[in-house]
Amino acid sequence: MEINSLLESIPRISHTYRKRLNKLGIKTLRDLFYHFPFRYDDFSNIKPIGDLKLNETATIQGKIIETKNTRTWKKRIYVTEIYVQDDTGIIKAVWFNQPFLINNLKENDLVSISGRINFEKTLYISNPAYEKISQSKSGLRHTGRLVPVYPETSGLTSRYLRYLIQIFSNSINQINDWLPQEIKKSQGLLTLNLALRYIHFPASFKVIEQARHRLAFDELFLIQLFALQQKLRWQKEHSSKINFDESLIKKFVDQLPFKLTDAQRKASWEILQDLNRTRPMNRLLEGDVGSGKTVVATIAALQTMTEGWQVAFMAPTEILANQHWQGIIELLKNYNFKIGLLTASESKVYFKKQVVSYKKSGLLEKISQGEIDILIGTHALIEKKVSFKKLDLVILDEQHRFGVTQRAALQKNVTQIADGLPSSIPHFLSMTATPIPRTLALTIYGDLDISILDEMPKGRQEIITKIVAPANRTKAYEFIRQQAKEGRQIFVICPRIEIANGKSQMTNYDINNADMRSTISDNRNWDEVKAVKEEYEKLSKVIFPDLKIAMLHGKLKPKEKEKIMFDFKASQIDILVSTSVVEVGIDIPNATVMMIEGAERFGLAQLHQFRGRVGRGPHQSYCFLFTQSGSKNTNARLKALVTSNNGFELAEKDLQIRGPGEFLGTQQSGLPDLSMASLSDIVLIKNVRQEAQKLIQKDPELKNYPLLKEKIKKFKSSVHLE
Ligand code: ADP
Ligand code: MG
Repeated sequence: MEINSLLESIPRISHTYRKRLNKLGIKTLRDLFYHFPFRYDDFSNIKPIGDLKLNETATIQGKIIETKNTRTWKKRIYVTEIYVQDDTGIIKAVWFNQPFLINNLKENDLVSISGRINFEKTLYISNPAYEKISQSKSGLRHTGRLVPVYPETSGLTSRYLRYLIQIFSNSINQINDWLPQEIKKSQGLLTLNLALRYIHFPASFKVIEQARHRLAFDELFLIQLFALQQKLRWQKEHSSKINFDESLIKKFVDQLPFKLTDAQRKASWEILQDLNRTRPMNRLLEGDVGSGKTVVATIAALQTMTEGWQVAFMAPTEILANQHWQGIIELLKNYNFKIGLLTASESKVYFKKQVVSYKKSGLLEKISQGEIDILIGTHALIEKKVSFKKLDLVILDEQHRFGVTQRAALQKNVTQIADGLPSSIPHFLSMTATPIPRTLALTIYGDLDISILDEMPKGRQEIITKIVAPANRTKAYEFIRQQAKEGRQIFVICPRIEIANGKSQMTNYDINNADMRSTISDNRNWDEVKAVKEEYEKLSKVIFPDLKIAMLHGKLKPKEKEKIMFDFKASQIDILVSTSVVEVGIDIPNATVMMIEGAERFGLAQLHQFRGRVGRGPHQSYCFLFTQSGSKNTNARLKALVTSNNGFELAEKDLQIRGPGEFLGTQQSGLPDLSMASLSDIVLIKNVRQEAQKLIQKDPELKNYPLLKEKIKKFKSSVHLE
């Protein structure tokens, strides 16, 4: 079988099974071998029946001497019993609710059976793995070895996957090892062939480790090499240089109502230096919630506009775009810039204390004529091919919301936007409020330079954070009522809730994460809107019928959302019940309580973001974490939040506790699935980075590495950049 052939062309795989395999992302034979086990059952302990001990996990092999199906009295459950004999004794194997087993396992069959040895009157083996020995000429598949357990989907078991992988295993030889020989040598890595064999057919846990190491290296290597190539390409582009006028910046900074932090100064300086080059800037400004990124971005914008260029400022949501528009108007109120807002529902311009609304087409025309100095909006700004006359700076706020893929697409559009200026593209500044530990940032943002705001403005109040046990709920509600009476406002955040009939098939996994529960739950059916509606009903009808309560979720129309945010900001609403849409950026200084339901469902970094929504005004603020979960892991996480107000610290912890898969979520990171690599393995990341850098320096176009070149090309299309 050709390794890249689609499953369609393989007659042994039926239509039904092909569909199920597709569901797991398996479209070709190659994909099948890249579907990695997430654990192994150690059934390698093959023993004579007479030597079995209670509670051990063992494999026995022998002849079936009796089979029977019965049903229990009370629950009418099928019980299948099979007696197996070898030279040393007889043992009973028991299965529940699988009466059909008897059709397959018959008297006189030779079987291999693996499982845990239990005791009830006598030793028996309960719900074991099994296979007929005659069937598997190519060796044992499901018993008697380290048996791989794969991510499954409805109607597709690990048993079937083991079968497929085994019958096609010869095709593994066709997979080319694209990793340069010298790297394998210096890193002591297995060949790809061997690694793939060991991962599916391991002889020991030691070779599993070796295989995982090689495959993890591969995953990180491709990401990093790709990022480095992107960086080189970006650096070959050309941007217009923006002079750094120190007195202009100093004047602006002096008239601000606050003093910049040292971190803000340093970051601004780095950015202004970048702008002052013809090499395009591609910088990430990373800083905790409230660390003051907006003003840094505004400094960059001010310099750019003063030099006669246009700026595009993008935010992930309309609410945020609107807020930025107002914030930037305020910051630049002593200057005469034309500040535009363009979203799905609004197109207007602020100039000299006046706001004028336009038809969209009217605003677009002004932009293309270069009459708008800074245009603020959602990423539609760039996707809809708004044409600027002289764009030289693009700012992307909350860039983690966009993901690698979208970012790359944006940058590509940026290069297109600059059509009017042949061979020139704008400088690019991204901002993120999710403080990502540096190693991780280097991996996923390997193509960016990074500035960090690791210092908060002085005089910020500490938010009092409390974990609220179910018994104290009433007390918390009383406290909230009191706050509302004093004129303060309250956020209530609801997590997605599980829909009752949700299937809990596991399709995703993290091999390094012993606690699989949370991973499994991610694949159930969740409904955010339903949770918010229920909570809203409860609060508005039962708990606080006297207060003004509104709800906010992603399914509302932009206009409705905006109205609610507007009313909330104007203190027309006491309590806002919301999904995670308020997570980023929202600024309501009068809000003092952040109450989070089902806090265990959120990551630390995200909870920290929610908390950052309060404590933005003069009043003492509070964050209440409601949780049902008594799990140790959860409590450790939530306690971390109580004791720390530092986003970077929390991000490190989150990464340790939950693993990078959940920390980022592939959706957020935009990365292709990392099934092997652990982003918390700092040593591995460093090694990979070194090798990738060495290689790119030696051979930037990979001319001498055709297999690798091909692989990178495929990788690129797998992240949908083309
Ligand atoms: P974020 O980094 O989360 O985007 P913002 O830019 O929204 O933070 O800033 C949060 C608040 O802090 C704003 O109200 C802003 O005016 C204020 N701020 C920014 N820098 C300083 C500073 N150096 N001192 C005091 N307040 C500041
Ligand atoms: Mg912000």
